[in-house]
Amino acid sequence: MKTLGLIGGMSWESTVPYYQQINQTVRQQLGGLHSAKIILYSVDFAEVEQLQMTGQWDAAGSLLVNIARKLEAAGADALVICTNTMHKVADAVQSAVTIPLLHIADPTAQAIRQAGFDTVGLLGTRFTMAQDFYRSRLEDQHGLTVLTPPADDQALVHQIIFNELCLGQVLDASRQTYQRIIQDLQTQGAQAIILGCTEIAMLIGPQHCDLPLFDTTALHAQSAALWALSDGSAKGRP
Ligand code: GLU
Repeated sequence: MKTLGLIGGMSWESTVPYYQQINQTVRQQLGGLHSAKIILYSVDFAEVEQLQMTGQWDAAGSLLVNIARKLEAAGADALVICTNTMHKVADAVQSAVTIPLLHIADPTAQAIRQAGFDTVGLLGTRFTMAQDFYRSRLEDQHGLTVLTPPADDQALVHQIIFNELCLGQVLDASRQTYQRIIQDLQTQGAQAIILGCTEIAMLIGPQHCDLPLFDTTALHAQSAALWALSDGSAKGRP
């Protein structure tokens, strides 16, 4: 089994399910007392959030590059960045190490294509929804059409992530807001919804929504675990 290097803590509320779901997948595959080989570097998210909010993406990239190098030196065979948003610096991280970075958008897009969908609604931070780094990978590399909410709804989705979910707060009123925004995306033509922020599954599950949901946390964790159990070829590389 290969060792996974997790860059977590963004937020730690979503790193907990990563750890759990990677281990659950290994147990399902190997049985008995088997569990995943993981090295976790968990950041102080307040520092990362400050860099995000002030647009200091180069500094945020350097922070993750330093962590990635430490994980590689510690023996990780692949890297898992446990957040969608910080994949904005995925290329910088990948070019700083020789081990593969297992990109979160790839297993997500593959699951969507396997389910037969081509038009999806994307929910995430405003960085993930409004900027190009994430949706272009879904569109250009996987041929998906990606729909996002209008700017005022993107602001609501973003605020609920940072002001509530990353702090462990799950509120019914916010769930209703997400449900309304998902319905609007369905009206626009979305066949399915990407939970493109690793905390959203705390708030919205299949029982809350008519559309199929693609939870990036679960898909990323599961595919990383299966990669660790595979022959370790570089199929996660961009
Ligand atoms: N975990 C979130 C994501 O998947 C947001 C936190 C962050 O900005 O990194 O994008």
